[in-house]
Amino acid sequence: MNAATQYAISWKGLKNGTYHFDFKVDKALFQEFESTEIEDGDLNVSVTAERTEKELSLHVAIRGTVTVACDRCLEPYQQPVAFDGDLLIRFSDEEQEYDGEVLWLAPGETEASLAQYIYESIVLALPYQRVHPDGGCDPDMLSRFRIVSEEEFEAIEQEAEARHAQPLDNESLSRLTALRQRLEEEDGESEEKN
Ligand SMILES: [Zn+2]
Repeated sequence: MNAATQYAISWKGLKNGTYHFDFKVDKALFQEFESTEIEDGDLNVSVTAERTEKELSLHVAIRGTVTVACDRCLEPYQQPVAFDGDLLIRFSDEEQEYDGEVLWLAPGETEASLAQYIYESIVLALPYQRVHPDGGCDPDMLSRFRIVSEEEFEAIEQEAEARHAQPLDNESLSRLTALRQRLEEEDGESEEKN
């Protein structure tokens, strides 16, 4: 079964009223859309649909996790995803572009596929900064990239402050300067990425 069929709502024959649909999302959806960011996923999609004469009004709630690469250590981790959105399905003789808010169907179409909407919503729900939760980064990978954590930087700064009465020796000073530069460079890089 392809994604278009798997995530379809068959609206034909639905009388006016409220309906509920549940879908499961796994790896297949991300492969179908050839995602380069999301390797895998395990999510539930809960759809409440209100059918009126003119349209179907959907509320879509997506909950679960996706597997993405950590920005810091590049190893995969499970990113929780929570998305809530609304989508209208309307009918028109004229061909209209899907804009993310209204999905247009020709009067002859009996099914509306939510595959694209679900996929895009999951991608949109991902945070800009994708990193392992506290301390979960692979230490080997980190040392390979020689990445300095904020904590490490602060510890060195505090150490320097504790010795405030005495002037900093040259070695500590140059170490601090080098660390500060490296952190700033990293910040610059991650901003560019976003
Ligand atoms: Zn990591």
